[in-house]
Amino acid sequence: MLNLVLFGPPGAGKGTQSQKLIEKYGLIHLSTGDLLRGEISQGTALGLEAKKLMDEGILVPDHVVIGMISNKLDSNKDARGFIFDGFPRTVAQAIALDELLKSKNSAISGMIALEVSDTELEHRLLLRGKDSGRADDANPEVIRKRIKEYNDKTAPVADFYKNQNKFTSVNGSGSKESIFDTIAVVTETL
Ligand code: ADP
Repeated sequence: MLNLVLFGPPGAGKGTQSQKLIEKYGLIHLSTGDLLRGEISQGTALGLEAKKLMDEGILVPDHVVIGMISNKLDSNKDARGFIFDGFPRTVAQAIALDELLKSKNSAISGMIALEVSDTELEHRLLLRGKDSGRADDANPEVIRKRIKEYNDKTAPVADFYKNQNKFTSVNGSGSKESIFDTIAVVTETL
């Protein structure tokens, strides 16, 4: 199985590159942001709880996202592999993911981190906010909060995979195609 963690701050291009990876390698895309937005649009209790936090740019509790990922792994037993996008976002989530995969005799193949400067991220997110309709993209204060949450809670997840020799970083500025070419080269070494 090919299990990739696509890593990087909000606006780094994880969603875009995930789409290209799915097409090329036939993987299942698991984006916790998309799953949470799905819960919100269906008006579930979980969605209602998550919405308040997401609108403020704060991470939702670990147990919520771990539960969602566990369900998705169970309902895709025959998958060739998964792309984890926006997950794990805390070290506790990374530990839980290792355990979930281990219980299915599988493991993370590697983490690919997209590196983009903070100024470019803010610019990209504000631009995306104009047509994504996402409240968390429209407000500069919320964008800065998301980048702060990333630096405080998510950035340490890179060390977790570095310690397992599963970490590669890729320059996330440039054309979508050239970034993908580099990601594909890395993916094929995994
Ligand atoms: P972005 O990467 O642009 O921030 P996402 O769609 O991945 O967009 O995430 C949007 C919001 O959803 C986050 O700010 C956070 O509130 C919540 N979220 C998504 N994934 C997680 C996660 N793994 N753990 C906690 N909160 C999450």
